[in-house]
Amino acid sequence: MIVLGIGQDGGRPQIGCRAECCSDASLPRVLPACLGVVGSDGRRWLIDATPAIGEQLRVLDDLVPRPTDDAIIDGILLTHGHLGHYTGLAQLGREALAASSVPVWAQPRLRSMLERDVPWSLLVDHGHIDLRSDPIDLGGSLLVEALPVPHRGEVSETVAYRVTGPNRSVLWLPDIDSWDAWDRDIVEEVAAVDVAFVDATFFDDGELDRDMSVIPHPRVVDTVRRLVDRAPELASRVRLVHLNHTNPVLRVGSPERAFVERAGLSVAAPGDRFAI
Ligand SMILES: [Zn+2]
Ligand SMILES: [Zn+2]
Repeated sequence: MIVLGIGQDGGRPQIGCRAECCSDASLPRVLPACLGVVGSDGRRWLIDATPAIGEQLRVLDDLVPRPTDDAIIDGILLTHGHLGHYTGLAQLGREALAASSVPVWAQPRLRSMLERDVPWSLLVDHGHIDLRSDPIDLGGSLLVEALPVPHRGEVSETVAYRVTGPNRSVLWLPDIDSWDAWDRDIVEEVAAVDVAFVDATFFDDGELDRDMSVIPHPRVVDTVRRLVDRAPELASRVRLVHLNHTNPVLRVGSPERAFVERAGLSVAAPGDRFAI
């Protein structure tokens, strides 16, 4: 597994943001959350197609060279139909890659939308993508499970993915409305894997200049508290992803980041690799 992005859908710099987080050119860009999955035979998949898919595939190429020149990507697993998670599919169309039958796994509502609505339907009609449904079969020894999670569903349902290899397993859960609204227990889900990448969009309720009580996503302070209260020994399995441009945890050396690290969690970093 290779982390290819850790940001919220809009990444950083975020469109329209004039605050220091996005105007200080010395701060690194943050690409939207994306995970590269590499099989033992060298095949490569992406979890989510972000607006930065071209750049993220380029990084994947540098870290895991393609077996052949035309093996650009072996498939894409989509979590849901929000900006940062599927719109990179457009790059597979004739204006850019003109891909041929790239397998794309999407849950039923998202699949219907992609089949029905332009411009996505053109990708299907012209054979650039080949939509697939559960069960997800990547071949080889990787087991992939889609776990439904509650997340605002105007366009599609949302899933997290658990990927299990011969030796270890990973949870990829970039977007969820709240831990309490989930029919699973986040602490148990962390316990079930070796590494858990979890939604860390916002640090706390003081982060945005508006009423955050109506804005979903678990806060990092709450996620940390749940782990520390119930299973501190699991904290080191958790890597934070999907950080909003405003999230102070993005800043190395900030008190908020120190709080996270003191509890034993870490912030995922682009280029992080993890063998399963
Ligand atoms: Zn998102
Ligand atoms: Zn979302």
